[in-house]
Amino acid sequence: MLYKKRLMVPGPTPVPHQVAQAGAKPMIDERTPEFGELFARVGTNIKKILHTRNDVLVFTSSITGACEGTVQNLFNPGDKVLVINNGFFAQRWVEMCKAYRLAVIECDFGFAGEIDFAQVARVLEQDREIVAAICVLCETSTGMVNDIERFAKVAQNVISIVDAASGVAVTEIRADQWGIDVVVSGGQKALMTPPGISFVSVSDKAWERNARAGSPRFYFDWQKAKRYSQDKYPHTPWTPAISLLYQLDAALEMLLAEGLEKVYRRHEVLGRATREGLKAAGLQLLLEKEPRFASAVTAAYLPSGLHADEFVETLAADYGIQITDGPGLYKDKLIRVGHCGYIDPFEIQAALSAIELLLIAYGCRLQPGEAAKAAQKIVAEAVADQVC
Ligand SMILES: *Cc1c(COP(=O)(O)O)cnc(C)c1O
Repeated sequence: MLYKKRLMVPGPTPVPHQVAQAGAKPMIDERTPEFGELFARVGTNIKKILHTRNDVLVFTSSITGACEGTVQNLFNPGDKVLVINNGFFAQRWVEMCKAYRLAVIECDFGFAGEIDFAQVARVLEQDREIVAAICVLCETSTGMVNDIERFAKVAQNVISIVDAASGVAVTEIRADQWGIDVVVSGGQKALMTPPGISFVSVSDKAWERNARAGSPRFYFDWQKAKRYSQDKYPHTPWTPAISLLYQLDAALEMLLAEGLEKVYRRHEVLGRATREGLKAAGLQLLLEKEPRFASAVTAAYLPSGLHADEFVETLAADYGIQITDGPGLYKDKLIRVGHCGYIDPFEIQAALSAIELLLIAYGCRLQPGEAAKAAQKIVAEAVADQVC
């Protein structure tokens, strides 16, 4: 049998033809009106996606680069920051902050644990030395979406920082209305662009703190980035990934032409279809209830006796479907199916069918077709309701 390769991980994600082609444009100098126009438009369109009028700074790096830059640009060694930890990516913030000698206070709710915001509020109230709080919007390691609006409210007296990597253009984020000081994200999740572009939005309050922050920085220096972006022809302090910016530009145009509300609803349908399909294939989801299901990625346990890392590898080798396994200690136990960005409902059905076939090959007693059928039901309802 011939099987097409299908990429279904929560980043990097498949790239639409228009976006791929945009990367083949001839190279230009970044100190020209032509580049300035491109760079300014990308910045403006990112602001639309984040619903913000704050400054947006764009960098050449994976998203972790912009996260590290955020730590460099906001703090002095010894500053106290609170990290809300309920997954692998939050843990990465803990480690990053410690690497810069910050005093990290953790509100640790465990892997895939629900955040208790009353507890977070208490911690912030009792320790007035805390200068910032960090929360992940979509915890890609678990498939949980955190209540960022609530977070921003609780953290209103400190600098609020949101890692929105796999949340942007999947789920609503209203940076200004909710009062989020810094949003960090990048191109290779739902923004359908090859990896290598990251960005942050920076509020006035965050700029005030930046003026007093003394941690070493160079490549990700916000003030330098801002100054260059305000030149007659907006550009960057260092050579930018020009091809990737062409691609991000094309992807942002596609998403805005579709309309953000539709983009969110489309992802919701894909998330629901994936969950119902995995359950119909006899798998137990990592998360048990609404409304914390992320629309970017779904995690499920494999039946005991099966190894997730081996399952993932075999699924790719035998059926061409690339999903991923769990993070850290869950590598062996969890599979994760990505459904953000340029993914359609029929690809979800293809992935579910392949997962089902492989489970059958491993001896699970399943009726072929049930997983795709469960997903099809969700899609049919959405089509009937003209959701997508
Ligand atoms: C993907 C992702 C990142 C950044 O990962 P990079 O590999 O550096 O691009 C950070 N946080 C979350 C929640 C993510 O999903």
